[in-house]
Amino acid sequence: MHNVVIIGSGCAGLTAAIYAGRANLKPLVLDGHEPGGQLSLTTHVENYPGFPDGIMGPELIENMRKQAQKFGAEFKAGAVTEVDVSKRPFKIIAGKDTYEARSLIVAAGASARLLGLKGERELIGHGVSTCATCDGYFFRGKPWSAAAIPLWKRPTFSLATPAGSISSTDEMSFGLPRS
Ligand SMILES: Cc1cc2nc3c(=O)[nH]c(=O)nc-3n(C[C@H](O)[C@H](O)[C@H](O)COP(=O)(O)OP(=O)(O)OC[C@H]3O[C@@H](n4cnc5c(N)ncnc54)[C@H](O)[C@@H]3O)c2cc1C
Repeated sequence: MHNVVIIGSGCAGLTAAIYAGRANLKPLVLDGHEPGGQLSLTTHVENYPGFPDGIMGPELIENMRKQAQKFGAEFKAGAVTEVDVSKRPFKIIAGKDTYEARSLIVAAGASARLLGLKGERELIGHGVSTCATCDGYFFRGKPWSAAAIPLWKRPTFSLATPAGSISSTDEMSFGLPRS
């Protein structure tokens, strides 16, 4: 029986693991298909507080992971396929493995929904972006257009929660010229 199981090892899951670890809860983190999450796929991260010169995404994530391990977090590979929170202990199923937990933190992240336009995937990082708050700064003063699409997908496992939906319209302001 685990005190805390955390689904996802992106920056949200790792932050939760650091806090739970420091509370002596010995959290178990389930990595999923993308250990380290989205930031492990990117290069220069400029907007993270504490790094005035920026930091590479994988390095930032590796630091967070080490920090969580230092406080006793345990990591396991495996993508969660089913969660039962209808009774305690909670049951978390990842393929052939079943875990029981007193508490569950879901930090399974999100992935961008592309529009399906020609050349869209090839041009990611070369003008097409799914994150205005991340990349808008780089295009300041250049011609650009924006499409508002829901950014979040449903969780990849069965869990009775409503899926979040966030419009990208409020992100557009990151590409607007500032005086
Ligand atoms: C190319 C790119 C560049 C970016 N640049 C920046 C930037 O410069 N600055 C910035 O602030 N943000 C940036 N972002 C956004 C940032 O990466 C995300 O906001 C952040 O990673 C979200 O963290 P998260 O932990 O919530 O989720 P994620 O990073 O999405 O992590 C989700 C985790 O959940 C796991 N998971 C999912 N489903 C399951 C499952 N069924 N079972 C077990 N585990 C599961 C995944 O394996 C992963 O470990 C960028 C994103 C991308 C794609």
